[in-house]
Amino acid sequence: MYPTPRGRFAPTPSGSMHIGNARTALLSWLQIRSQGGAFVLRMEDIDMTRSRSHLAEGILADLHWLGLDWDEGPDVGGHFAPYTQSERLEYYETALQELQHQGLLYPCFCSRADILQAASAPHGLSAEGPAYPGTCRCLSADEIQAKSRHKTPSLRLRVPARMMTFEDGIAGSQSANIIQGGDFIVKRADGMFSYQLAVIVDDAAMGITEVLRGWDLLDSTPRQLLLYDLLGWKAPHFTHVPLVCGPDGRRLAKRHGGTGLSQLRLKKASPEAVIGWLAYLSGLQDRPEAMKAADLVPSFRLSAIPTQPVILDEAALSRM
Ligand code: GLU
Repeated sequence: MYPTPRGRFAPTPSGSMHIGNARTALLSWLQIRSQGGAFVLRMEDIDMTRSRSHLAEGILADLHWLGLDWDEGPDVGGHFAPYTQSERLEYYETALQELQHQGLLYPCFCSRADILQAASAPHGLSAEGPAYPGTCRCLSADEIQAKSRHKTPSLRLRVPARMMTFEDGIAGSQSANIIQGGDFIVKRADGMFSYQLAVIVDDAAMGITEVLRGWDLLDSTPRQLLLYDLLGWKAPHFTHVPLVCGPDGRRLAKRHGGTGLSQLRLKKASPEAVIGWLAYLSGLQDRPEAMKAADLVPSFRLSAIPTQPVILDEAALSRM
């Protein structure tokens, strides 16, 4: 039905784009464009408390400026708007109902503080914070009813003890016992669907075959593979690109200053100079030579991307 491969860029509009996000956008776009596939843009504004529409507008402007386009979405006056998670709640609800129907969900009344307190016990800490210790896993119907009078619960997935394995496009062979992260939330107490649920529902519905994203989401992938499995859907192939870090070795963020695309534009950097930089940081060219994104398509190779995080030193930051 669709040309394949199909890929996507799925930013959360809770902050503006910096060099690190732009690199993920460029690499996911190149991966698909170099194989003649279709590319999708999806605004992941499912966490409505953190997302802002002006930041979503800013991301669109930055992508246009960089020369990164996409192939489908709601038609707005002759061009495509991105798919937007806040407009797709019924899809997440249907998937949630399916998991509920399979008896895989349970209400959880624990606060963050409860979990932190209990976390030293059974499963300890996972990379994503304390693993849920299972406090509400076995509540009786009476207990649930009594607790519900005082508090709206979140919904957690009963995670089985199971090894999840997959072959990552950069990180290589991965395996994790999924129970180690504990039962995870699929719907928050405030009624919001979780990232883990929304992302897989969307990737499946949009026929995504290639997910290329930041290394920080490598740990989430076993959970997402479990959800694909439980819902009987085919999972895409995953590629996690090592992060771009500041001089302190930490993931690039506002505190590093000067790496926001809007700041680079204010400094009159050209899109070609920024793309050239990103291509250089990604092993796609030997020098940071100015380039259009489209010019990188013919020679794109995933295998050129370094497997270590890229550290931007002070000199690199000041040159940008
Ligand atoms: N929305 C996520 C983010 O901006 C990315 C999700 C994904 O690529 O799976 O970090």
